[in-house]
Parts: sequence; structure tokens; C-alpha cells
Amino acid sequence: MDDRVLLFFQSFPRERRLDWASLLRRVFQFDVLRCISCDGRMRVIAFIEDGHVSTRILEHLGLTARVPAARPARAPPPLPPGSEAKPVFDDPGADRDPEPDPDYPVD
Ligand SMILES: [Zn+2]
Repeated sequence: MDDRVLLFFQSFPRERRLDWASLLRRVFQFDVLRCISCDGRMRVIAFIEDGHVSTRILEHLGLTARVPAARPARAPPPLPPGSEAKPVFDDPGADRDPEPDPDYPVD
């Protein structure tokens, strides 16, 4: 790599991104990579994109392969009578603070 290109990339810190499991743990406070049987760490060994293959695997395991019907999101709950509260929306920029590295190896 050209030294000037390398210097360019080094002058901008790489944006830190959380992996999908960390995001799920952060939002739902549930560690999807913790084995419920032995409390050990699980790891992704494959992504199955072919629907026929995933259906065959799920049916072989005795699990349903049927996708639940999509439903529209519910409306927000009504405000109490006399309330002057305003709806609050998350600011996606406010949630971009880096977190410490996870305590398990990341590939
Ligand atoms: Zn286990």
C-alpha cells in the first residue's frame, strides 16, 4: 500500500461498530450466544440463506418452519387525560458511543 494511502487511513480512527450479538444483548438484555444448557459460549458456524435447506433442518429437528404472519405495529399508548407530555423518539446518534470489547473472543 502506498505510504500516503496508509497515512490517510491511519489519520481517521476506524469507526467502532458493535456486532449483532452485542446489539441484541444491549437492546433486549439477553445474551443470544450464551448456551442455555451449559452456560458456555456459542459461535456462529454457518449462515443458511436457502429457505428450503433451513426448512428441512427445522422440520428434522421437530421445529416449526412456518413464518408468522406480519402484523402492523400497534399505535403508541394514549396519554393520560390532561397530560402535556410530548412523544419522545430515540436519537440514533446518541447511541453510537463505543462500548468496551466483549469478554469473549471475536473472530
Ligand atoms: Zn452448551
